[in-house]
Amino acid sequence: MKVPLLDLKAQYMAIKAEIDASVAEVMESQQFILGPPVQKCEQAIAQYSGCAYGVGVSSGTDALLVCLMAEGIGPGDEVITTPYTFFATAGSIARVGAKPVFVDIDPASYNLDPAQIEAKITPHTRAIIPVHLYGQMADMDAVMRVAEKHQLVVIEDAAQAIGAEHKGRRAGSIGQYGCFSFFPSKNLGAAGDGGMVVTGDARRAEKLIRLRAHGSQPKYYHQVIGGNFRLDSLQAAVVLAKLRHLDAWTSARQHNASRYNRLFAETGLPIAEGAQPSASKAGSPSLVLPRIVTDRHIFNQYVIRVAHRDALRAALREKGVGTEIYYPVPLHLQECFSYLGYRAGAFPESESAATETLALPIYPELSETQAKYVVQCIAEVLSARA
Ligand SMILES: *Cc1c(COP(=O)(O)O)cnc(C)c1O
Repeated sequence: MKVPLLDLKAQYMAIKAEIDASVAEVMESQQFILGPPVQKCEQAIAQYSGCAYGVGVSSGTDALLVCLMAEGIGPGDEVITTPYTFFATAGSIARVGAKPVFVDIDPASYNLDPAQIEAKITPHTRAIIPVHLYGQMADMDAVMRVAEKHQLVVIEDAAQAIGAEHKGRRAGSIGQYGCFSFFPSKNLGAAGDGGMVVTGDARRAEKLIRLRAHGSQPKYYHQVIGGNFRLDSLQAAVVLAKLRHLDAWTSARQHNASRYNRLFAETGLPIAEGAQPSASKAGSPSLVLPRIVTDRHIFNQYVIRVAHRDALRAALREKGVGTEIYYPVPLHLQECFSYLGYRAGAFPESESAATETLALPIYPELSETQAKYVVQCIAEVLSARA
């Protein structure tokens, strides 16, 4: 049996008529740059996220970048974030000339540990970028408490977490900014690159709108230097058509996650109680399942943790099961950040997560048969190790 990590074709086939009609409408209009679908998409995503304003941008990466630019963050400034995230989070900080300052993660959620933030604050610290990894929000109460105390801006990297909630509040609506990605593998994906910034602040929204179009206001008059960070009409039309289905897809992902939990429990494999796999008495190495620590985990990824991750991944590939490692190298150990001077061992939780985590197929269309097959394959491989 073949079980891919993600099956975008299955999703497209289910809603093909709607997507094709939305795309055709943009083609008929020949209005590709910004335009009515972008405005509609901005309003819809802002409303979905519980924010007053949405500003469509060219990607999740550019969403982060334009927020940092809007705050005037640059050389001499420091921004605190997690090393256990997609590259863009820290890449954007470095691209504006500021210094990424990392704090380790809480291994239960894989999100940055807010208790470690304060020790990293210096007179140069300007902002915090918490990442809501795998579709579950970081502990935003604690993040906001320390940010408010030190007057820091909070930019939520909600690229993997559209619609996730922390104590009833949606991802992107708690910090000064929330950044979304419409990369095709995200829960709400476009037909290419796209992203959005949400904010509750009219002045910040205005700045973002200006910066995404070269900083001009009015056209051809530039008080500030921006870039071309626009969301285009075709992508906005696809996102709008898909947004109607997002809650149903989220429910399906949550259902798939609980089904995996149940199926894993039924295998009799030792499920680790702690955040890390341990050698069990029965002999076989234990398995760590995802923890739900906030109210609405949207399961962009269902990530398990095992001691012999790479061997398991290779065996699953042989059996036709697609998996992925998010992420194999924590950002403080990336070659391009060697100038920051971090050494291996600096962030032990991020480093051990990077060697032990594995994302399984969790897409909404995943069938019961496929899920059973994935679990059966994992059980076979792990018990053979015993
Ligand atoms: C996907 C992602 C981004 C970047 O989004 P793009 O649209 O691919 O530029 C940033 N941060 C995180 C955590 C992501 O998962």
